[in-house]
Amino acid sequence: MATIVLHGGAGNWPPEKHTAARAALERALDAGVAALARGGNAVDAVVAAVEDMEDEPLFNAGTGSSIGIDGRIEMDACVMRGDTLEVGGVCNLQRVRHPVAVARAVMEQTDHVLVGGEGALRLARALGFADWDPETPDKRAGWQDRVRTLDEGGDAWLPRMKALLERHPELRRGTVGAVARDHEGRLAAATSTGGVALKLPGRIGDTPLPGAGTWADAHAAISATGRGELVMRTLAARRVAERVASGSSADEAVCATLDELARTVGADTGLIAIDRNGNVSIRHDTPTMAWARADLEDAIRRSTGVVTAPRRGAPRRPPLDDPDDAR
Ligand code: ASP
Repeated sequence: MATIVLHGGAGNWPPEKHTAARAALERALDAGVAALARGGNAVDAVVAAVEDMEDEPLFNAGTGSSIGIDGRIEMDACVMRGDTLEVGGVCNLQRVRHPVAVARAVMEQTDHVLVGGEGALRLARALGFADWDPETPDKRAGWQDRVRTLDEGGDAWLPRMKALLERHPELRRGTVGAVARDHEGRLAAATSTGGVALKLPGRIGDTPLPGAGTWADAHAAISATGRGELVMRTLAARRVAERVASGSSADEAVCATLDELARTVGADTGLIAIDRNGNVSIRHDTPTMAWARADLEDAIRRSTGVVTAPRRGAPRRPPLDDPDDAR
């Protein structure tokens, strides 16, 4: 059996966007399922699904990415293959349509793991990735509102930003993921994001960092979403794989890792994972996380949702009063 699981970002999906988010995840699931059905491997499947979500303005990745405090979009992405531990990532990449495809090119065509900023853009252009403007009018309007909120009273997501901008006015100026197990049992993970809204220029999140927001090895494949700084401080994706290697199921490993985050750095994260036996976990500490899953056996079984059952003993955080938090 082959399986693919997707997330369209943890956060605070407003109810009026739930239907559209699930429909978009269905389309991305189609792309991943088609890749597996035509004999593609797990990497082909996760990249196909993530590229599809990068084209969907509802999600904070590719077109529709969050805009930074300087008014520009800088995107992060990563892809990793579990059987060989090959991995490629891009960070602070501007003006390409599919950052995850550039991440795959880093993995397959360079000797490096992570390429960022201007260098990543030059590599992308050299490899034939065309110029693309990922900004959407919706995101620009949301950005303007959010900058106003920040100016007026501060922002719950960025408690230090108002003070920083007051001291340094010169600084002025949301994520999708997939994990898959293919028919041969190989695992892969891919994640792509515009990062957090109003981020500082040059800020890199958890998404492109192997072991933090993205990880795949022989035991498990994991993609994270949520406040990247928390995920980076705990190497959450790698922690899930270590727990699976020590005998936990994917779900036990994900729950234990979310508990660990809550105990140590704070709970504001969603994780999807698949283990070597095809067990899946889809969990989040945030109020919502759009997700989708397909299992390919004789028939294809599919499901999508915007929340999952809270894990035992873990109170879900109440929604923050945050208008632009449909990451
Ligand atoms: N984890 C991403 C980041 O911090 C954001 C997200 O998942 O929405 O860059």
